[in-house]
Amino acid sequence: MDRKCIYCGKVKDLSESDIIPDALTNARILNKNVCRIEHNNKFSDMFESKVINALSFITNKLDIKSSKGKNYAAYNATITIDGSEYNLSLHGNNNIFNGRVLKSSDKTQMLSSYEKMVKISKDESKVHPVDVNHLEIEKRVPINYEIFYSQSMYRMISKIAFEWYCAQNSVIGYHQEFDNIISFITTGKGENPVSIIQESELYMYLTKQVDLGSHTLFAFESHEEINVVISLFGLLMYRVVVSKIKPKFCSKNFLFTELRTDSSREKIEHDSLETAEAYFSDLIKRIPSIKHCEIEFMISTEPNPRLLLYPFIFDMIKCFKNIQNDAKAPNENLNNILRKQLETIIQTFTLHKKSIKRFVKDIFVEGHSPIQLNPHTNDKNSILLFYVVYLVGSSNINKLNDNIFQNLLREHLSLYKSEELVVTNEITSQFKKKILENDNYPDILEKGAHIIKQWNN
Ligand SMILES: [Zn+2]
Repeated sequence: MDRKCIYCGKVKDLSESDIIPDALTNARILNKNVCRIEHNNKFSDMFESKVINALSFITNKLDIKSSKGKNYAAYNATITIDGSEYNLSLHGNNNIFNGRVLKSSDKTQMLSSYEKMVKISKDESKVHPVDVNHLEIEKRVPINYEIFYSQSMYRMISKIAFEWYCAQNSVIGYHQEFDNIISFITTGKGENPVSIIQESELYMYLTKQVDLGSHTLFAFESHEEINVVISLFGLLMYRVVVSKIKPKFCSKNFLFTELRTDSSREKIEHDSLETAEAYFSDLIKRIPSIKHCEIEFMISTEPNPRLLLYPFIFDMIKCFKNIQNDAKAPNENLNNILRKQLETIIQTFTLHKKSIKRFVKDIFVEGHSPIQLNPHTNDKNSILLFYVVYLVGSSNINKLNDNIFQNLLREHLSLYKSEELVVTNEITSQFKKKILENDNYPDILEKGAHIIKQWNN
């Protein structure tokens, strides 16, 4: 089979295109039928890099980094240290004092190692030593919502939908069925094929079924059209009309892929919703006398772990087919969904083993002075993390594992009870109060940090 670019039909100088830009996923998927310059490299400057830069705060949080570079994408943050504001570009999480010289926004203060400051100021009397463990540090990261509704995002999402659908169907070369989407991706002209799902219940359902921070892709036939729905990090779901009619050369029109942050993935493909349903009911029949309530139990012995995934995909696709209120422009409702999804993802990820271990490693460094919490801090993320360390330290637990840890959180964080994690200012100020009320809290934090450092599976 000859390879030909799916955008222009060129046969020379083809390349492997990262369907989702490499910097936005740890689970790469490729389309090999894309010409190198015009329809791969150029897209990066045209629209991808803009989205990648704007979302770098999220990719940092989710531990996603480009396989080409060793670094996380940089993001901008405003840090308030001891009352002065510093605008910084950060990589990774807690590297504020990474040997650099910080200049405050009002240009009156500089901050670095003592030796460096004496060298710069040439006058030791102008340099005031500070203890970083006692500093009041607040980090604020501006999040640009506009990027989610920008032309760059719509073009990138269209590109992902088109290249993924073509890769799954082994499409080779240019086809006029895809005229509109190709024109939109390559020039930004033509009808925008993207709309945004705004049913908040579908977001809640998705959040429960897929992993945190996953990209989830669905393809299906809807009223003659081919639709691809892409959930980007679980933040927003974009619907893309890939083709107004079903292309005769594409037989796989029921597709599902989940790409997780740990680089694992799930993939399901069938010809149509009907054949997928037939496959699933056949699967169910082979399990002797199954009752619905036993599905969860059966799954532990049944070799096909995807048994529970099918009903979820059927439900989602049927809803996608029926809803007709997609948004074409930003609105209050979408902003609320986005804010809520963003909070859930960031806060839940904060409570992941990996994030907690990273926090403890960065804060409780060897030989540090006792931790003094700043009573006025409003940094919800670090209060939450300190509270978790405090919970571990004040429990009777000597050794942690995932299960013990989850139970501890469930028992003490009321926010878990509704299955939904919402950390409000009110809750964090309660956490802060609880820690500060205990005069012995620095020792308890040390004990908690020690146990967390020993935590291995
Ligand atoms: Zn091309």
